[in-house]
Amino acid sequence: MSALSISDRGESRNYDVVVVGAGFAGMYMLHRLRGLGFSVRVYEQGSGVGGTWYWNRYPGARCDVESMQYSYSFSDELQQEWDWSERYASQPEILRYANHVADRFNLRPHIQFDTAIKACSFDEDANSWSVTTSDGRTATARFVVLATGCLSNARRPDIRGLDRFKGAVYHTGNWPHEEVSFAGLRVGLIGTGSSGIQSVPVIAEQAKHLTVFQRTPNYSIPARNAPLSAEDRAAFRKIYPEVRRFAREEAKNGIYTEVPDRGALDDGDNERRSKYEARWAKGGLTFMSVYNNLSLDKAANDTAADFVREKIADIVRDRATSKLLQPTSYPIGTKRICIDTDYFETFNRPNVTLVDIKTNPIEEILPHAVRTGGKDYEIDALVLATGFDAMTGSVAKIDIRGRDGLTLNRKWAEGPKTYLGLMSAGFPNLFIVTGPGSPSVLSNMIVSIEQHVDWIADVVSHMRDRKLDAMEAEQGAEDKWVAHVNEVAYTTLYPQANSWYMGANIPGKPRIFMPYIGGVGPYRQICNDVAAKGYEGFAMTRAEEARKVAAS
Ligand SMILES: Cc1cc2nc3c(=O)[nH]c(=O)nc-3n(C[C@H](O)[C@H](O)[C@H](O)COP(=O)(O)OP(=O)(O)OC[C@H]3O[C@@H](n4cnc5c(N)ncnc54)[C@H](O)[C@@H]3O)c2cc1C
Repeated sequence: MSALSISDRGESRNYDVVVVGAGFAGMYMLHRLRGLGFSVRVYEQGSGVGGTWYWNRYPGARCDVESMQYSYSFSDELQQEWDWSERYASQPEILRYANHVADRFNLRPHIQFDTAIKACSFDEDANSWSVTTSDGRTATARFVVLATGCLSNARRPDIRGLDRFKGAVYHTGNWPHEEVSFAGLRVGLIGTGSSGIQSVPVIAEQAKHLTVFQRTPNYSIPARNAPLSAEDRAAFRKIYPEVRRFAREEAKNGIYTEVPDRGALDDGDNERRSKYEARWAKGGLTFMSVYNNLSLDKAANDTAADFVREKIADIVRDRATSKLLQPTSYPIGTKRICIDTDYFETFNRPNVTLVDIKTNPIEEILPHAVRTGGKDYEIDALVLATGFDAMTGSVAKIDIRGRDGLTLNRKWAEGPKTYLGLMSAGFPNLFIVTGPGSPSVLSNMIVSIEQHVDWIADVVSHMRDRKLDAMEAEQGAEDKWVAHVNEVAYTTLYPQANSWYMGANIPGKPRIFMPYIGGVGPYRQICNDVAAKGYEGFAMTRAEEARKVAAS
């Protein structure tokens, strides 16, 4: 396998690998493949690198995995030299980091920005993909890697009248690049998932009045964000080898934290309460790791959920508002747990109103108001914090045709089916990074991204070394994996929530638990074992052999 020709001007553009997307996954994929001598083209619909951090510029946007861990580990020089300024970096800082990585590893010359991939079609004779771009041109490549992101297809809700609203409408997942000021405005915000929870306190400080429209309340834990000192960073850097090893091999979610050895009901009330208090004071996502059975046992889970509800009740002064903010309809942690800075406290401000749109769904949006429960809430600007068509949304927007013209959308009509989250039978030489069926959004995603990218880089080299032309998930292996993913999900409390993990936020989307919940460490081991056994469950063929079989 070698580069045929790389030309941006000509009509013929042939690469070993086309990568779709220049977020953290696409950038690292590019870096690895170039290091191995492959010709690679990355197509990115945005005008810059960073993916999530390029698009999500809303007020208060920041990571919820601590920055010293939510960062690449593939280059020790990079992790030793980059100075994160806060425990959880803000969006501008993470975007600066992504740009630094692009420059440091000279990635830009291989990325074509402002170009969306519209279609990918597999040529069975040539064992290669033909890729159509939004500028109407085509490129061919032996392999296509979909690094399109799990949370990259912002979901605009289908609410009557939305298009007639006279003020500005913003989506948190596609925020303008220029400064947005809400000073002196009456702002409406729909959606109280992670983006809503991060932006509400910041918008409330600017706006004349903020009305938050809430369908489902979320469990949120204080982030306890703080500046990182040089000493903090130095102390952390000393333990980086162990932090990274643990995150990859032992952690369930790719985060370095204590491993609990007890269940919530093994402790008495006082002991349990003091452990929850300590974790609440420490802040952050690891709240769910206080005990080892919070996602497995409803009675155990209730103790944590009760604790958080009590905290909300303590913080929020107005009884009705406090009640509305307390989640009761699903176990804690079964929707992505949020972390916040003064979210609940913000509802004590005189300029903030919470409106329940579960009981009274929004009837319509008028030119200057949101109508619900027979009342019109006057607003000048509207923020949609309504999340994403998660995990499959960006893949589904591409017309992907595999063997016999089968489209991926048709194959996935009943829900996504993959082998290891990496490939789908019938779509040879097409890889997905952090796809459905892998730990993905249940993990520190940079850990999962690096693992997938390394695995893909290894297998592509393996094929080049053996002069293999096509690789495809076997149907039997895929069926077994899909069954396993489901089986593991249903040993936990996760499927009890109507979450975006289940596709439940998108009307008409099939309800299937999409990420693999078996844990980042065990999953990595499974992928490594598959590779060690000669890529068990994947069929690999050489064009010569395929032709002989066809001719005989
Ligand atoms: C607000 C927010 C906060 C988050 N915080 C965390 C966190 O703290 N920890 C964590 O682990 N994860 C977090 N995530 C998840 C985050 O998405 C991942 O951590 C990570 O950034 C994903 O990288 P990616 O490269 O896989 O995808 P993305 O960053 O989504 O990049 C995908 C890129 O592909 C491009 N693309 C898609 N389709 C096409 C197409 N057809 N043609 C061309 N380009 C295309 C998109 O424009 C995008 O730039 C957060 C997500 C959000 C939205």
